[in-house]
Order: sequence, then structure tokens, then C-alpha cells
Amino acid sequence: MIEATCHCGAVHITLETAPAEVTDCNCSICRRYGALWAYDSPRRVQVTPPEGATDIYVRGERLIEFHRCKTCGCVTHWTAVDTSIDRMGVNVRLMPPEVLAAARVKHLDGADTWTERYDS
Ligand SMILES: [Zn+2]
Repeated sequence: MIEATCHCGAVHITLETAPAEVTDCNCSICRRYGALWAYDSPRRVQVTPPEGATDIYVRGERLIEFHRCKTCGCVTHWTAVDTSIDRMGVNVRLMPPEVLAAARVKHLDGADTWTERYDS
């Protein structure tokens, strides 16, 4: 079990396993948030509390809801607007630093080509 928590502790997110890979995306929203994403099925991720503790930002295409803690402002996770999509993102920056240190970072060119690359 791996926990991600916002700074004030209002939002807890629990993953079953530590992410082996995290995504560093340079799209217009991710580069501003400075988030690193671990993707998983919403069925395997527990968000506590699930409602009310976060504000939501839905960007232009209205595909994804970005959640941030109402109290401390940390960007915690995103979920698909279409709930049949079996994928969500959790901000690895909210996990213990050693979890990020152990993960491989994938650079996603979400701003342009949607190609991926690794540092090495
Ligand atoms: Zn908070």
C-alpha cells in the first residue's frame, strides 16, 4: 500500500502498489501543475474523502477533472469525466519521496506529438 496525501492531510489517496513508472507531461496544464502522474484503475485506488474535500478544474476538452485540495491547494489526482474510462492519475509528488526516487520517469510530449521518451 502506498499513500499520497496533500499538505494539510485532508485528501488521502491509497494505491495498492508503488508505481514503477511515473509520467512527466509537458502539456499546457501538467507543466503548470508540476505534477508527476501515476496511472491506475479507479477500482484499485482509494480516495479519502472522495467528495467535498477537493475543488475540480475541467479543462477545455472536458475529458478530465483535475482535483485539488480545497484547503491547501495541492493538485491530488485526476479522473475521467466519462466514468466508463478505467483510468485515473494520482500525483506522485504527494507520495513519499522514496517512491518517486525508485520509479522510472517517462517524459510525455503531451504538448505536441504525444510521443514518449526516457532519460536513459
Ligand atoms: Zn490539503
